[in-house]
Amino acid sequence: MEQTTKQFRKRNAILSCLRSTDVHPSADWVYAQVKPEYPDISLGTVYRNLALFKQQGLIASLGTVNGVERFDGNTDPHVHFICTHCDSVTDLPQMAVPQSLCSQAAAQTGGLVEVCHLAFTGVCNRCCSSRNS
Ligand SMILES: [Zn+2]
Ligand SMILES: [Zn+2]
Repeated sequence: MEQTTKQFRKRNAILSCLRSTDVHPSADWVYAQVKPEYPDISLGTVYRNLALFKQQGLIASLGTVNGVERFDGNTDPHVHFICTHCDSVTDLPQMAVPQSLCSQAAAQTGGLVEVCHLAFTGVCNRCCSSRNS
C-alpha cells in the first residue's frame, strides 16, 4: 500500500513537472527536476512513466531532436519551432495547423487523419544574435 502511494506521488511529480514547463524537456531533464525531491527515483522510472503518459494521451511526444526524445505537457495541436543550433523547442501559439492541410492529407491517404505535427526548424532568435555578435 505504502509502495503504491509512493509510486503514485512520483508519477504525479513527473507529470506536473512536464506540465509546468514549456521547454519541451527530455527524460533526463525531467529526471534532474524530480530527483531532489525524490532521491530514490531512477531514470528508468522516469522513462517508463513518460512512455505510459504518452500512451494514455496525457502528454505528447515531439519525436527526437538531435537523437533525444522530447516531450510536451500540452497535448493540444500546436506548431513548434526547433532550433538546430541549441536544440531548443518553442511553441508558436499564434499559428494554427491549417485545417485544409489535414483534409488534404486525409484525401491522399483515404483514411482518417487524427493528428498533425507541424514543426519548423531553423536558428532561434537567441542563437542568431549570439552568432552576429
Ligand atoms: Zn538556438
Ligand atoms: Zn509545444
